[in-house]
Amino acid sequence: METEDEDFSFSAKETDSNGLSLVKIDTKTLLRKQKECATLKDLVEKVSRKDPKEFLKGYKMLPNGLLVKQQTDKLGEQRQLLIIPEEYRENIKALCHEGTSGHLGVTKTKDAFAKYFYWPQCYKDLEEYVKTCDKCQRVGKVNEKKKAPMKLVPIIPEVFSKINVDACGPLPTTPKGKKYFITAMCLASKYPDAVPVEDITSASVVDALMQIFSRLGFPKIIQIDQGRSFISELTQGFLQKFGVKVIHSSIYHPQSNPVEMFHRTVRRILRVLCLEAGSDWEQAIYPALFSLRTVVHESTGFSPAELFTMTSRTVYGTTKTTRNAVTPYANMSPHETSRQIESSANVEADERYLSVFK
Ligand SMILES: [Zn+2]
Repeated sequence: METEDEDFSFSAKETDSNGLSLVKIDTKTLLRKQKECATLKDLVEKVSRKDPKEFLKGYKMLPNGLLVKQQTDKLGEQRQLLIIPEEYRENIKALCHEGTSGHLGVTKTKDAFAKYFYWPQCYKDLEEYVKTCDKCQRVGKVNEKKKAPMKLVPIIPEVFSKINVDACGPLPTTPKGKKYFITAMCLASKYPDAVPVEDITSASVVDALMQIFSRLGFPKIIQIDQGRSFISELTQGFLQKFGVKVIHSSIYHPQSNPVEMFHRTVRRILRVLCLEAGSDWEQAIYPALFSLRTVVHESTGFSPAELFTMTSRTVYGTTKTTRNAVTPYANMSPHETSRQIESSANVEADERYLSVFK
């Protein structure tokens, strides 16, 4: 739990949210605007007469006349980036930075942008946009870590098998009476989840954990910081019942602790979103989670949502985990079996499910 003083005195609702409505444009209009745009005119002309120099840069004209830029992404897939005419650039920049994009830093804003859009000098424009964002300036700079270069899809042992659970607060009481939020983060994929709660009594914690498990399945191991008051006998009993092993993370370095980083980032996003939406941080927590799930995490090189999909996991319920404990590899699809074998290096992994029978 973090108790450091932070400015959560949100200002009243502000009207400026031009970036929040999605950019409304159809193909026909985009085609016309690409041709009319003063900054693209020359390029459109060169590409349409198949200038080899522009071709090498990846510019291409689709059969319908739309100008795109071909680029290979980190998964080796060919992407066709839309070339945005000047008129829509402000909207696109806002789309990649504001609202559910969470007002994250330059790198993450560029990541959100780079998959779909392009225009000459776009990265310089984005840098400028983030640096001069009024809301970002008001809540302070993002602490962005340098991204680890990632060329291959990382091996994720088993998504959501080991999670860190923590509580964050107290924050200002929301209209619904919430003062804290219980957080969970998958340590492999960095997939975050959070549940606002009134207090951190065992009943509230158990309720929050149940909500998280219902969405993501039962983890094998929960890591909790030592001395946390919210882990009581009730909570321990609850976790034991579902065969979840609890470990304490007293030797964790706070600086490198992804959950501490996550808390800091969530609190920052909440502050920015509350500048946009008023003082109800409970409402702002879902857009905050959304942006964290969909932007690239610097330690993996992928977004948690991407890793989640890539590993195509199913939600593990008690029936499946119990069955697997008895005959671990029978009746599983080849895909599941290989994943199970991969993770079975953890000896205790399956034994613990037997506790469900007790
Ligand atoms: Zn911002």
